[in-house]
Amino acid sequence: MIYFDKVTKTYLDNLKALDEVTLSIEPKELVTIVGHSGAGKSTLIKMLLAEDQPTSGNVYFESVDVHSLRRSLLTQYRRRIGIIFQDFRLLPYKTAYENVAFAMEAAGRTDEEIASDVPYALDLVDLREKIWNFPNELSGGEKQRVAIARAIVNQPDVLVADEPTGNLDPINTYDVVQILKKIHDLGTTVILTTHNKGVVDSIGRRVVTMEKGKVIKDEKHSKQAI
Ligand code: ADP
Repeated sequence: MIYFDKVTKTYLDNLKALDEVTLSIEPKELVTIVGHSGAGKSTLIKMLLAEDQPTSGNVYFESVDVHSLRRSLLTQYRRRIGIIFQDFRLLPYKTAYENVAFAMEAAGRTDEEIASDVPYALDLVDLREKIWNFPNELSGGEKQRVAIARAIVNQPDVLVADEPTGNLDPINTYDVVQILKKIHDLGTTVILTTHNKGVVDSIGRRVVTMEKGKVIKDEKHSKQAI
């Protein structure tokens, strides 16, 4: 489904953020990409979202070279990927409900679809009772759950979670990981980046380890799945 073919990204100072990365991710997989800060995880995600061009190599999504897509097709392609970040990136003056609804409005969905799908998405992340709260009235874990609801409400094929637990305490980290596993169980491909060993162990699926822009390990199962 996703294929990185010898992807290299060199920045101006000649630093190779990615160095000939070859990696394939199958539909409905749950992959954890692990590595120290600076290993190249976020650059890999940037290449997948076609936010930046590789210096060499190609990224394919269902056999289409994503960096060759023209603007309108690129917008369609990006809608197939939901994304969450360490810093949540919620709109501060919108409630949880409105943050999720906004993603549907931007995708051109109808009012009826919004009225039925937003509560469903917020249910899925166990946040039904806080739908009218603003982000500053929510804990970090709750904010990240709103962000997850927003990322999945348009039913993307892939959910990318870039360091989703970086700002969370262990209890909220556990909750967010359980929700990501639930979304994966419901049939979405999930790609998670983290440098948190506890997160890797609690997921217990395929783990790709990066170091200095290279994939140095690709293990089918991590050890201690909970
Ligand atoms: P990670 O997400 O694993 O922490 P990144 O992909 O953010 O790693 O970064 C990989 C390397 O590329 C780092 O050394 C970082 O400083 C460098 N890098 C990332 N983005 C840029 C950029 N826009 N310009 C220059 N260097 C960058």
